[in-house]
Amino acid sequence: MDKQTTGLGMIQWEGDTWLSDPEESFGFRANWKVKRVLHREQSDFQEVAVMETVGFGRALVLDGIVQTTEKDAFIYNEMITHIPLAAYPDPKRMCIIGGGDCGAARETMKYPGLKQVDMVEIDPKVVEVSQTYLPEIAGYEQPDPRIQFHYEDGAAFVQERKGVYDVISVDSSDPVGPAAVLFEKPFYQDVHRALTEDGIMVCQSESPIFHPQVLKRVHHTLKELFPVVRTYLATVPTYPGGIWSFTLASKKYDPLLEGADRLQMEMNRYVDRGVYQGCFQLPVYVQQLLKE
Ligand code: SAM
Repeated sequence: MDKQTTGLGMIQWEGDTWLSDPEESFGFRANWKVKRVLHREQSDFQEVAVMETVGFGRALVLDGIVQTTEKDAFIYNEMITHIPLAAYPDPKRMCIIGGGDCGAARETMKYPGLKQVDMVEIDPKVVEVSQTYLPEIAGYEQPDPRIQFHYEDGAAFVQERKGVYDVISVDSSDPVGPAAVLFEKPFYQDVHRALTEDGIMVCQSESPIFHPQVLKRVHHTLKELFPVVRTYLATVPTYPGGIWSFTLASKKYDPLLEGADRLQMEMNRYVDRGVYQGCFQLPVYVQQLLKE
């Protein structure tokens, strides 16, 4: 039977409905068999949707691109949260830029020493929809009062802060639309300024297979600003190609030398001390990419 497109990214094929990722790289695109669409609306920034998929549970979909799924959100959220929080001794104040699905914010609450987490999400609809339809990820309980929500552009937010945060995590969508600015040097300079004198930042830096130039640029730009820059990897099946990169930049502490013993691992499903130490071991093609 011929494929029929029914609207943004939705395809009818042999009686089933599929969500087809609008981003095609090297002739590859992901397709998700969908049971039903639970929510779909246009916010001021993007189309926000939640779909019940056949294989990955519920999925948050922004502008047709799957951001996170119930099946493997824990991998991404633990990796973007625990690695920088353990690398910094006794963090007190943290800022998350993006991360509207609230999975990373929820993960930070495993660190009892954290007094304040500023969640800076440009689109309140993402938070509202995630809290309503994705409690597996966002949490069933009321958000902890230590998490303060700020609905504004993360780039403008950090520009106004100086020496405030021990850890800043950039949990952004892909570098298009409102997230594009979060991959640029002026933003990283502002993040550097917003950190305490020994602070650490981390960002998701895309796929080394599908977006090598993005990873390379993020890594090299951060090296111009921070003495310690470490890229690490995790396998997140939801993201194109599965293999995903994060880049940590630090003013002082090196996660290769310390931090594993500071991990809070209770209820973790991915990060333990072995993963903390092993995730910085990069395969040869990534080492070569970052050397170029
Ligand atoms: N962890 C998932 C991933 O890597 O795809 C999801 C990340 S989370 C859903 C990304 C969030 O960043 C979105 O909710 C989006 O609205 C938000 N975002 C994009 N640009 C932003 C900006 N300039 N300031 C703050 N938040 C932004």
